[in-house]
This record gives sequence, structure tokens and C-alpha cells, in this order.
Amino acid sequence: GKVIVNDQMMERSQHRIDMEDRGYQFGDGVYEVIRVYNGDLFGVEEHIDRFFESAGKIKLKILFTKESLKENLNALIKENELQLGIVYMQLTRGVSPRAHVFPDEHTTPVLTAYTKEMPIPKLQMANGVSAIVTPDIRWLRCDIKSLNLLPNILAKEEAKEQGCYEAIFHRDGIVTEGASSNIFIVAKGNMITHPESHFILNGITRQMIFKLCKENKLSLVEKPFNVDDLMNADEVFLSSTVSEVMPIVKIDNKTIGNGQPGPHTKQLQALFQKYIQKQARI
Ligand code: PMP
Repeated sequence: GKVIVNDQMMERSQHRIDMEDRGYQFGDGVYEVIRVYNGDLFGVEEHIDRFFESAGKIKLKILFTKESLKENLNALIKENELQLGIVYMQLTRGVSPRAHVFPDEHTTPVLTAYTKEMPIPKLQMANGVSAIVTPDIRWLRCDIKSLNLLPNILAKEEAKEQGCYEAIFHRDGIVTEGASSNIFIVAKGNMITHPESHFILNGITRQMIFKLCKENKLSLVEKPFNVDDLMNADEVFLSSTVSEVMPIVKIDNKTIGNGQPGPHTKQLQALFQKYIQKQARI
């Protein structure tokens, strides 16, 4: 299929990455993943806003507008005839002789984007998945959606080796988020998730869940909780662009609740489904 390189659309095979691209060499860049439902970018404004914010936080100058980026992404989806899947995009600090300091002002950032078909993980959403708990060894700016994902990769691989879907990070016993998701627990009827801070990525799905809870008068609070609270919760679920609202029914081989997706999780899944259908006009 076609890809985007800066403001051009081209065949993927036509583009070559320079070995001194700072994204390749240093992970010096930021990225976003946006869901496509029914050929429509879901939450596109929120994702593009966060993309620009992440870029700003690492002092990356963006040479295009949000509007033109959105237009180009929509054109790409149309060209590739994507109905259900994702768009991946990233912006690196460009190509320059290797040096830690920023390159001179004539170096232009490199934007790349491609589409990928991706089904909804329906079976796992219905039955729940398992997870492991692992120390959060990441840096202190997890609010930036940076290309540097080594700790996330290592944690995810460890989860996979143990037959699990996700790795849940804790920092000194406080649960922060998943390797590629935000984590929620239900305890005494209240939904709880880690407060927005430098320790987590403020997920777009997380923000949508807050909105849905407010609209439907469901109790959701931002409050730190620890690994004990996690293990003894009535329900646990994760949220992400790719996995939507995903029940977690087993953690480190311990069953959560009765081992089935709980009522709060299922209610949120239904609300989220309705929200998608409304946004994507399904
Ligand atoms: N935290 C991390 C570390 C992530 O990689 C992701 C996935 N992008 C999320 C949270 C969830 O964010 P979103 O709902 O925007 O996909």
C-alpha cells in the first residue's frame, strides 16, 4: 500500500530511511496510533493534539498544520481502502551527522505514516486476558509518546513469555499503567486509575472513558493505588486504542474477581461500543 513521507504519498517501497535519521539512531522522535473504524479516523483531533504536544515537549518543530496532517491521513486511508485497522505515524528530528545535541535549524523533521488492517480483539474482549506485574523501569516523562520504548518492549516480551497479554507497571509499589495501555481497577463499586502525571501516558481511550463515565454518572476517580489493591480488586481492565476496553481476569496467575469480566467493565465496553458507532456513523 501507500505511505506518507512528509507531505508526499508514495509506494512504501519507494522510501528509504537514512541510517543517520535521529529516529533510527537515537529514538529521537514521537509517534501516534489512531484506530480506523468504518474507514474513519477515531478520535483524530485528540490524537493529533497529543502528537503535537509530544513533539513540543521534546522541542521538535512541526512544519505542517494539524489540518493538513488530518487531510493527508484521510487521503492515505482512502487510497489504501482501509476500513478496520490503524494508522501509525511518527515524526523524527530528521537526518544529520550523529551528535547528541540537536542538529542545526536547516535539518527538517521526518514524518512517516502507514496504514495497517487490524481486527477488533473480540474474543479476548469477551473472555478477558491475563497480565503480569513488573517494575516500571522507564524514565520520568512517560507523558511523552516517545519512540524510546525499550522498557515497554522488555516488559511486553516478558508478558508474552508467560502467556500473558499485557505487563502492568508499578513504580515503588504504585501501579502506573500497562506497557501499552492504561490500567483501571474496580474496588467497592468505584473505578480507580492512576492520576494524570509524568508517570503515565494520558491515553486517548482513558480520556474517552472519563467522558463516558461523567455522561453516565459512573464513579471514576484518579487516585494512586498499589499492587495489593490491584491483586485484590473486584475487576481490572485496561484501555488502549488497539484493545479498547479489555478485561483483565488473571494477574501473576491469581484470578481477579470470579475470573470473568465484571459488570463495570462490561458496562463500559458497551458504552464505548456505542460511542464508536456514533463517531464512526456505523
Ligand atoms: N500507555 C502507554 C504506555 C501506551 O503505549 C498506550 C498506547 N498508546 C496507552 C497508555 C494508551 O493510550 P491510547 O488510549 O491513547 O492508545
